[in-house]
Amino acid sequence: MTKVAIVTGGTRGIGEAISSTLKELGYTVAANYAGNAEKARAFTARTGIAAFRWNVGDHQACLDGCAEVAAKLGPIDIIINNAGITRDGVLAKMSFDDWNEVMRINLGGCFNMAKATFGGMRERGWGRIVNIGSVNGQAGQYGQVNYAAAKSGIHGFTKALAQEGAKYGVTVNAIAPGYIDTDMVSAVPAPVLDKIIDKIPVGRLGQANEIARGVAFLCSNDAAFITGSMLSINGGQHMY
Ligand code: NAP
Repeated sequence: MTKVAIVTGGTRGIGEAISSTLKELGYTVAANYAGNAEKARAFTARTGIAAFRWNVGDHQACLDGCAEVAAKLGPIDIIINNAGITRDGVLAKMSFDDWNEVMRINLGGCFNMAKATFGGMRERGWGRIVNIGSVNGQAGQYGQVNYAAAKSGIHGFTKALAQEGAKYGVTVNAIAPGYIDTDMVSAVPAPVLDKIIDKIPVGRLGQANEIARGVAFLCSNDAAFITGSMLSINGGQHMY
């Protein structure tokens, strides 16, 4: 039986590349999304990968969503915690809701998805969790105390959970992407983006596929001895 993977935020951007790459490698993939049903339908038509709608910031919705995927596709072997949002602003202008929403979705989503699946992975003696962090969680970023705190939290979450899975064949790792050419980055004003690109030693944005290939490696049996690690894929922007 093929391994079953859920990719949160798996219908667009980096998540779409991860979903497609895992499918090409023979995994059975379920792509989760939040609400953009039009993009999700187009994604399924393009890739043949089933899309499931729920909010990863909602604990019960994650338990129910994972149960639905397991009933349709089989026990969940792999979770890619990729769903993420930004609500940028300097601290003086950031509302508590902007803080809370980013923590609830970006960091809380990792907890919710792990709660739903980690026990089963341990019982079956094999599992992979890959959490998508960010260079801005490693280095900080002006106007992103919420996002940087959530992403930095993902890095700690990864290292702690890795210790709980290690004896049971379950690895937990993180990838910290630099600036990748997706809708999230298109939202950055062009003059700001030009300044960011000037600071990337390879001189360009990354491509979603370049993150997906890192994820695929961490999911493979070849990566069984890698756990609690943080793989930076950022064109040399931040050497951590
Ligand atoms: P994106 O293009 O904005 O796509 C976000 C995806 O996440 C969409 O599928 C979206 O679903 C889903 N999503 C958002 N909130 C969700 C929720 N509450 N529940 C379930 N799904 C949700 O983002 P991206 O640029 O590909 O980024 C993917 C991940 O990489 C994020 O965690 C981001 O922080 C991280 N990252 C990105 C960059 C970058 O440069 N792009 C750099 C570092 C880290 P809908 O389509 O339904 O909205």
